[in-house]
Amino acid sequence: MNNTYYGSLIFELSREGRRGYSLPANELKQYGMDALPAQLCREQAPGLPEVDELSVVRHYTNMSNNNFGVDTGFYPLGSCTMKYNPKINEEMCNLPAFTGLHPLQDPDTVQGALEVYYELQRSLATLAGMKEFTLNPFAGAHGELTGLMVMRSYHASRGDDKRTKVIVPDSAHGTNPASAAVCGLDVVVVKSRPDGTVDVDDLRPLLDDTIAGMMMTNPNTLGIFEHSIAEIAKLVHDCGGLMYYDGANLNPMLGKVRPGDIGFDIMHINLHKTFSTPHGGGGPGSGPVGVREGLEQFLPNPRVIRHDEDDSHYYTVENGVNSLGSISGFLGNFGVMMRAYTYILTLGKENVKNVGPLATLNANYVKESLKDSFELPIGGVCKHEFVFDGLKDKSTGVTTLDVAKRLLDFGFHAPTIYFPLLFHEALMIEPTENESRETLDAFIDVMHRIAKEAHDEPEMVKTAPHNTPVSRPDDAQAALKPIVTYRELKEENV
Ligand SMILES: *Cc1c(COP(=O)(O)O)cnc(C)c1O
Repeated sequence: MNNTYYGSLIFELSREGRRGYSLPANELKQYGMDALPAQLCREQAPGLPEVDELSVVRHYTNMSNNNFGVDTGFYPLGSCTMKYNPKINEEMCNLPAFTGLHPLQDPDTVQGALEVYYELQRSLATLAGMKEFTLNPFAGAHGELTGLMVMRSYHASRGDDKRTKVIVPDSAHGTNPASAAVCGLDVVVVKSRPDGTVDVDDLRPLLDDTIAGMMMTNPNTLGIFEHSIAEIAKLVHDCGGLMYYDGANLNPMLGKVRPGDIGFDIMHINLHKTFSTPHGGGGPGSGPVGVREGLEQFLPNPRVIRHDEDDSHYYTVENGVNSLGSISGFLGNFGVMMRAYTYILTLGKENVKNVGPLATLNANYVKESLKDSFELPIGGVCKHEFVFDGLKDKSTGVTTLDVAKRLLDFGFHAPTIYFPLLFHEALMIEPTENESRETLDAFIDVMHRIAKEAHDEPEMVKTAPHNTPVSRPDDAQAALKPIVTYRELKEENV
């Protein structure tokens, strides 16, 4: 445990007059000039802490040591696919030839970057079984909105303006109904069966000529493969709707099942999940959208077009006339694309086929090893993740939140908790394919130990964590009113 960090939280480091820097004199003064126009100068000092250099270095170094990331420990956050981002991805992304580019440059001078965009788009189309992709959207949710706009453009192009509803399962990720609402579509909820999959009998009566389409993820948010997918896709298509695939759960399918082959028309992929680029803390992300043949003209502008000439080729950036318009500045988050492209190339055709099976194997290994201590509401084989409904023995009142907090004491990131909403004490675990047998065993040991503690000494779990710099902040207030500057901290007199 890091006492210096405690010190910086509890004790004021600032001492009046203490300095850790010296700035050059204002050379303009001798010419009778001010460095800055008067109206830009503040009248009072900004009230920054007065500290020496070593205190600053220690303060920030110790804070950085308290960060938790995939590079420091196991991060089984369900639904988030917290994969390792191999360092070669960073190296490729940081090549000056790419980082020095400006989006307003003439396409003739950025042919390499356009080739990366084009080739990544082609790789994703091949892996997903789609005709064409746009890489412009900035996140999964942004991809959902873009995909739903494609859906609307398709119906509008046929003069079909009655289709204003989209069907979403009750197990869906919250972004699905939110994106539908932002796109101006009304959400119709379809129920799940006891095994967690979409209830086809509940779906049938919802289908009519007001349905624009249906959003699904497969495996669903419980990690269960939707085995009725062919029937569902047929029902939705027969009523004139389109199938949208939320590709945030593509990881266990990678190299095994292609959304385009099981009835989906439009989809997004989270490059920051399945394709191993870092995420957390809100970004940066990338949510490419793919469509089946016949929908590509609606994709957003601008696009990268490849032109072949004899034995050479070049790329242009163009706007399509039937496009739904622009949904991002320029072509999207290029750094994320570079990482994902490097990841695909380093894996290669053969290894990419192992991603899904290994992610599935790891999840089932953890699930089977822990189901004696934790309540498993839906048994059977899961895909890349699974959900427990809290402890098996709930007699001492230890909750899922308590278990998640206690895990922090052992150096593990907590799984996703209280999502999906289908269970009261949901604990959603996704180990990813990257983790070794030893890491999974260590996690399993700790989870069993916490279950035993919950029975033998419940207070220990209920008051956890005991080893972290902050124990149980008020989650809601921390999110609503984060104190992010020194001045606010002082004013609040914390
Ligand atoms: C992460 C996730 C999303 C949203 O993706 P963002 O990139 O966070 O916007 C949508 N659906 C599911 C199932 C997810 O796990």
